[in-house]
Amino acid sequence: MARYNGPVCRLCRREGMKLFLKGSRCYTKKCSFERRATPPGQHGVRRRKMSDYGTQLREKQKVRRVYHVLERQFRRYFDVAEARPGVTGENLLRLLETRLDNVVFRMGFATSRAQARQLVSHGHFAVNGRAVTVPSIQVREGDRVEVREVSRKSEYFKTAKETLRSAPRPDWVSVDVEKLAGSVTALPRRDQMPAEINEQLVVEYYSR
Ligand code: SF4
Repeated sequence: MARYNGPVCRLCRREGMKLFLKGSRCYTKKCSFERRATPPGQHGVRRRKMSDYGTQLREKQKVRRVYHVLERQFRRYFDVAEARPGVTGENLLRLLETRLDNVVFRMGFATSRAQARQLVSHGHFAVNGRAVTVPSIQVREGDRVEVREVSRKSEYFKTAKETLRSAPRPDWVSVDVEKLAGSVTALPRRDQMPAEINEQLVVEYYSR
């Protein structure tokens, strides 16, 4: 499974905003973006006027990076979103939000999508009673996502109960902390998905 292995904080500096890729560290003073918010590279501090194409490209890259999706897979998501009825940009965001790794993150089992992805690929979760190891699986309305019996006794999930209790989570998921299980109560509406993303720019990028 291919994935980006380079410096993560560099991506936030490239996109000019905090993408919250490192979990709890992102909320501390150690956040690199807090200390140096300029784009990476020798000419990072130069101010350049961005073309329409540049703006669309940056938005597309930002969304890809937030959800940890590589270009080819992202393009496939776009094609699926376009083929579905409804608003393409919204469909695209919904496809990304309902990836299993994102759902695990949204439920509060992990502090970042990267951590959620690792927990899933290490086989700690089951969907509707079946063990899964593929983070990109699409979770549907009514699906139950739970920590597998064998993983419940691990130190990580024992302490995770405490953080789960106070974890903020969107309305479209619910969690039973004692059972270490959650479910997708509805597919997310646009107002329940990240407001800082301008998905229309992504649609424009691929519609050139
Ligand atoms: Fe981005 Fe988090 Fe790194 Fe800050 S600590 S630059 S928010 S990944």
